[in-house]
Amino acid sequence: MRVVRFHAPGDVRIEDAPEPSPGPGEVKIRVRACSTCGTDVKILRFGHHHIVPPRVMGHEIAGEVVESGADGWVPGDRVQVIAAIPCGTCAECRRGRMTVCPNQVSMGYHFDGGFAEHMIVPVNVLAVDGLNRIPDGLSYAEASVAEPLACVLNGQGLARVGDGDDVVVMGSGPIGCLHVRLARARGAGRVFLVDLNRERLDLAAALVGPDAAICGAETDVVDAVLKLTEGRGADVVITAAAAGAAQEQAVQMAARQGRISFFGGLPKDKPVIALDSNLVHYRELTIVGANGSSPAHNKEALRLIATGAVPVADLITHRLPLDRALDAFGIVARGEAIKVTVEP
Ligand SMILES: [Zn+2]
Ligand SMILES: [Zn+2]
Repeated sequence: MRVVRFHAPGDVRIEDAPEPSPGPGEVKIRVRACSTCGTDVKILRFGHHHIVPPRVMGHEIAGEVVESGADGWVPGDRVQVIAAIPCGTCAECRRGRMTVCPNQVSMGYHFDGGFAEHMIVPVNVLAVDGLNRIPDGLSYAEASVAEPLACVLNGQGLARVGDGDDVVVMGSGPIGCLHVRLARARGAGRVFLVDLNRERLDLAAALVGPDAAICGAETDVVDAVLKLTEGRGADVVITAAAAGAAQEQAVQMAARQGRISFFGGLPKDKPVIALDSNLVHYRELTIVGANGSSPAHNKEALRLIATGAVPVADLITHRLPLDRALDAFGIVARGEAIKVTVEP
């Protein structure tokens, strides 16, 4: 079968590999859609300390069961697979905090991922209820977007996005678009979208229709948000951009008792920002992080997509066959697309 395999930074090959067979307790799927994201581009360029090559990449996975060694799954079942796999037994997992499990392993990192014609769903995934049935009427491509939406759900839960909130989303990539849509579904008041790149901002704004689109290269973003919110600032600010400057601005534009989600991480060599601690103190701000998603978030994401609460079909702007996976990464790297899905 054909696979997209990471060998070393800058060396990702589309090549032949033997078709895997499932062991006891495992499920084999025919991958139908595996979406790409910025993480894939990062792995391609820099590798990852959890990846021992060669490793099949791809972590936003949907497919069809073709062989099953696990109870409850039969050929023909349409399934979505979690990406981040908690252990289910540690102190954090037992407290229900599966996104911060210190023993977490991941599809495409510790296990061969979804950029392949076939893939094994490991026992670890099934042990934490991480293989999900795709609701009827939902395409494989849409189901593959459940994983990033699950991460967005985790972030907005921690930042308590709710009724009437003015929400700023910084970064208009696929994650930013999902944040805009989910905030609306959670009853947010006004939602503002920010990006430095005017083209990408316009593309995203045309799809998700924020109440205002602010280009950081043309205007002072903090001023713009204060003007749009009658001087109050935003109840919630979400940074979906790997930029310390965005995180610093997020704190400055938050309303009293505002919540700030540092949703996107910063580059490893530049993780320190300047923070006006008195803003946090006097305005009673809450700053929260976000690290992936739990199996429950994935189930909820599938449900939200299926009910139409968070549509994703129109966010999939490019669909490419497996042999063009490297082109897909290029499109993502250049910011030309919202979501790029590979269909092996
Ligand atoms: Zn991803
Ligand atoms: Zn755990």
